Amino acid sequence: MDTPTVTRFAPSPTGHLHLGHAHAALFAWDQAHARGGRFLLRVEDIDKGRCRDEFENDILDDIAWLGEGLDGFGWEQPLRRQSDCMADYEQALARLDHMGLLYPCFCTRTEIRAEIEAAVSAPHGPDGPLYPGLCRGLGPEQRQARRQGGESYALRLDMAKAITLAGKMAGGGGLEWQDVGKGVIAARPELHGDVVLARKDVATSYHLAVTIDDHNQEVSLVTRGEDLFAATHVHRLLQALLGLNVPDYHHHGLIVGPGGQRLAKRDRAATLRALREDGVTPAAAREMAGF
Ligand code: GLU
Repeated sequence: MDTPTVTRFAPSPTGHLHLGHAHAALFAWDQAHARGGRFLLRVEDIDKGRCRDEFENDILDDIAWLGEGLDGFGWEQPLRRQSDCMADYEQALARLDHMGLLYPCFCTRTEIRAEIEAAVSAPHGPDGPLYPGLCRGLGPEQRQARRQGGESYALRLDMAKAITLAGKMAGGGGLEWQDVGKGVIAARPELHGDVVLARKDVATSYHLAVTIDDHNQEVSLVTRGEDLFAATHVHRLLQALLGLNVPDYHHHGLIVGPGGQRLAKRDRAATLRALREDGVTPAAAREMAGF
């Protein structure tokens, strides 16, 4: 028997949900529901500076409203929050560190920018210029001294080493994932350079947390907006290095505003809150979100 499809919606409580989030949530639910699977919720609240409890409460309230009358649209108890899973991320970091794939990066944003501006050519990745590698070559004594001096640091993945090791672990074969609609995609994590896996202010990162959570929640089909397509290159590499499940992916189109612009949390008119206040029904909101 086939294992049931498990999908998830993973909002960050940094603002109110808008129609774009409603589309993402309904898309995930629809994919699971059509196959008799499970739809899960995960609160991505690692960014303590930007996340707020009141947004989480409002998000849950909006999700309950949006899903009125839909079978299995909601969340399981206990609600999964990334901030409760820090031990999982710590364990994964320790493993990658043990494999010799992490290094501390003491750079400030200003230092990184200055280095990029001074460079003759600065390679760019999906999220902008790549980290120029300033801290990659520090020796063990220098690292030790700067840590002891109390300098804060992020942990970066040594991308070249990581790719070489993942290649060896895979017996020389390349990494790929199955993207619904797009077919088999060859992973190209090198496009991202030495990504941060643990930030200076929080001991994890989007890439690390999301990959581990999808494994731990046994998500079999990751559905998310096509704006996150490029992130999957990194996630696929982390799965290989950490021996995690490789789900299928479905990167869907984004809902845009009347002027063709991407919706943002600050576009109040498109928030589910505002629609509710205007007397829009859940069914009408679902239709506006494409369902
Ligand atoms: N937390 C992310 C967001 O709110 C979604 C992450 C994901 O689906 O991988 O955009």
